[in-house]
Amino acid sequence: MAKVAINLSTGSIQQEEIIVGIDLGTTNSLVAYIHPDGRRPVAINDQGRGTIVPSVVHFPGGGEAPIVGTDAKDYLLTDPQNTIYSVKRLLGKSYQDLGQHAQDLGYKVIDDNSEGLVKIRVGEKFYSPIELSAEILKELRIRAEHALKTPVNKAVITVPAYFNDSQRQATRDAGRLAGLEVLRIVNEPTAAALAYGIGLSPDEEKTVAVYDLGGGTFDVSILRIQQGIFEVLSTNGDTYLGGDDLDRTIYEYWTGQYQLATVLFQNPAAQQQLRLLAEEAKRHLSTHESFAADFAGTTLPLTKATFNELIQPLVERTIASCRQALADAKLTPADLNAVLLVGGSTRVPLVYESVSAFFQQPANNSLNPDEVVALGAAIQADILGGNRRDVLLLDVTPLTLGIETLGGLMDPIIPRNSKIPTKAGRQYTTSVDGQVNLKISVYQGERDLVQENRKLAEFDLRGIPAMPAGLPKVDVNFILNADGILKVEAIELRSNTRQAVEIKPQYGLTDAQVEQMLLDSLTHAREDVAARMVIEARTVAEQMLYQVERFVAKNGQHLTEAEISQTTTGVGELKAALTTQDKDTILKAVDELEELTRPFAERVMNISINQAMAGKKIE
Ligand code: AMP
Repeated sequence: MAKVAINLSTGSIQQEEIIVGIDLGTTNSLVAYIHPDGRRPVAINDQGRGTIVPSVVHFPGGGEAPIVGTDAKDYLLTDPQNTIYSVKRLLGKSYQDLGQHAQDLGYKVIDDNSEGLVKIRVGEKFYSPIELSAEILKELRIRAEHALKTPVNKAVITVPAYFNDSQRQATRDAGRLAGLEVLRIVNEPTAAALAYGIGLSPDEEKTVAVYDLGGGTFDVSILRIQQGIFEVLSTNGDTYLGGDDLDRTIYEYWTGQYQLATVLFQNPAAQQQLRLLAEEAKRHLSTHESFAADFAGTTLPLTKATFNELIQPLVERTIASCRQALADAKLTPADLNAVLLVGGSTRVPLVYESVSAFFQQPANNSLNPDEVVALGAAIQADILGGNRRDVLLLDVTPLTLGIETLGGLMDPIIPRNSKIPTKAGRQYTTSVDGQVNLKISVYQGERDLVQENRKLAEFDLRGIPAMPAGLPKVDVNFILNADGILKVEAIELRSNTRQAVEIKPQYGLTDAQVEQMLLDSLTHAREDVAARMVIEARTVAEQMLYQVERFVAKNGQHLTEAEISQTTTGVGELKAALTTQDKDTILKAVDELEELTRPFAERVMNISINQAMAGKKIE
């Protein structure tokens, strides 16, 4: 997004900063920006090398700088041990998370501490997936700077809808390591819909499905777009399903049908070569009926019919996710105005046909499926740059967030598919007399037992005054910002003991860095201010209602009948205002109720309740 501005104090012409949109993909990555002529999103093609940068990093050894992209991809064949691909699958993950998938990679993933985050060994050095992703981002930044002839310091980066907190934070960190200020982490399907131009005019009302089958991940999302507001109604998918898996079916078919064992045995280069040949066959069959190639003296053929049979179960799995996403959104195919295809693997004819058949309408594949997400990210960057003020994005959290309660049970606080940014809380108490510390363990996941979910953080609320069990009142609040990053706080209400939570992401960021990241994300969430203000107004209103209702229940005997009836009317009005989703209406009703109740609140209540009724936030 390049704009020219005149600096009035110096009279000089300044070029406004460019904010790029980046699709950091499992297989391929791209960077896009809004072209000043025509203000259309364009994927950057530096020096005619194409828009797609394979997400592959090669370490030449001897202290030389890593090579990224197509040149690095060539080394998958000749030097697989020093050539890292699909690193996105490892972002924010522990070795335990990877399980059997660790063995499928051509390079070495270190298993020194199965609870910690994975490291990748290249020669004598160890790299984190964040560092490797940063190399890819750096390459994209350099290409953008070279092509646009201007420094690029700010970006919007997309992630799959299923990325959890740790993965989103890891992506942010990778951006920072690459010298980019990450203004926003955006879900890929949201970016894709933007690229298809959906939601850019304020009067538009649409419900769409976004089906994204890339190289390594699969997402389907149901979005509703209303009055310029993007809302993700549901998401579903599989972070271990993509074009790589289609390739693998061909690889396994060939190795099963032909005597390739001796060639492949202990020969990583031959294995990679066969993997690339399988991908070539797949691509070929998107536009042809049959494929054949020579491999180590053996002809390997594949017809489209056989290919379709091989991949049928995988395609069916994606359709099952579509079914679930529709059910979560409580919709039927007839409710959808469009089905959008994203990701290179949607070029496979069986995928197109199956998706169209399931949704009972021809899917839209009019945009280049490789570029869609990056183009949408560029549009999001444009929105953040303040150039499209009427567009507002709301996302959902893909997994439930909650805390561990007695018996190792998961107590959900923010359910999956909740719109973000959001804030939710619940009250807890102690289980033992005289208990002065309360351990709060934060989990993410859908299972009833926390041990089956993913632990995000654990902290102690200390300094609770000794009281009989059940007497302390501990409010635990979850604040999920627009990037899907979580902050947790706990407050003991009787003593006002509070603890700012130290969520320690597993890849070892310092507390100060985490805090900085949270601050960054809040500072830069400019275009969501309106949405957040409504949410904040609602929070104030809900706190007010809670306090007033509690006040009346406790102190009813001190109030006159007229005061009680006025309060009931005021409460009714505030509840009605809450249904409007209009910040000003809600805050006006809050003020009125506050005005109404203040005189008798002052009369009967002590100072602390008085403050609560004045709508003070417990933060
Ligand atoms: P993406 O992650 O969106 O870049 O998608 C990359 C995936 O799309 C890889 O698995 C590619 O093999 C696959 N792909 C790209 N072009 C084609 C094509 N013409 N037919 C089938 N699959 C393709």
